[in-house]
Amino acid sequence: MGRLDGKVALITGAGGGIGRASALAFADEGAAVVAVDIDEPALAATVAAVEAAGGRAIAVIADVSNHADAEAMVAAAEDAFGSLDVLFNNAGIMHPDDGDAVDTSEEVWDRTMEINAKGVFLGCKYGIPALRRAGGGSIINTASFVARLGAATPQVAYTASKGAVLALTRELAVVHARENIRVNALSPGPLHTELLMKFLDTEDKKQRRLVHVPMGRFGKAAEMAKAALFLASDDSSYMTGTEFLVDGGITAAYVTPE
Ligand code: NAD
Repeated sequence: MGRLDGKVALITGAGGGIGRASALAFADEGAAVVAVDIDEPALAATVAAVEAAGGRAIAVIADVSNHADAEAMVAAAEDAFGSLDVLFNNAGIMHPDDGDAVDTSEEVWDRTMEINAKGVFLGCKYGIPALRRAGGGSIINTASFVARLGAATPQVAYTASKGAVLALTRELAVVHARENIRVNALSPGPLHTELLMKFLDTEDKKQRRLVHVPMGRFGKAAEMAKAALFLASDDSSYMTGTEFLVDGGITAAYVTPE
């Protein structure tokens, strides 16, 4: 028995990092996976990996910041598998030119907000009616530890966008609780995925971040997938409106051990 047997799970940002690891983990637990991304080759690789492991997945090319794409990705889930039970709004960017308030351009701010914050809103706008049709479900929104801490390497647009994800998550959870729809945020710590490694592009920047992590290492996408699986499944049936911090201890630390 898989923990997601009979469930249909839509995962955005499934072409890389957390999204790909979650597609594999969810399919391994019995879910039919709707893998969404803008990066077609990366998405094809995810679907191939799921199928090679004996799972079920389809690829849907969509930009989560575009309302027509968001509507179409949800329709694709219902068309292919008959319903939607789990919505994992995970796609996000960390723009290379995101910095402090003085240096960050309006364009970088807007694009970051469009994908990281509006993308979650649009996923919910079209996903919630589908979850209602299924009699309920679980929404997971990927936030970040940076929504709680000032970052050593500034990234104001990204940080603000993740704060928005947390606030949105709480409100949606309260509004939809009686509809059997749970909404939780997953807040990863710093991970060894393309997103962060492209941003922390020198050894010095990497070490500056690691200094704050009690475990002294970056997290892995597969470790986030396990947390997302818990939130997606009935194992977390009494959890809604919460933030699940999976961060190597970074938010608990003031002084890290030698
Ligand atoms: P990643 O870059 O490895 O994967 C993100 C995926 O999202 C990519 O495949 C990319 O093509 C896709 N994507 C980007 N813009 C999109 C759009 N507009 N529409 C659809 N897909 C789009 O990154 P990751 O580390 O797996 O990050 C996943 C989530 O986790 C993001 O929301 C990120 O902000 C968050 N997060 C990451 C870290 C970290 O350290 N890596 C820490 C905290 C939170």
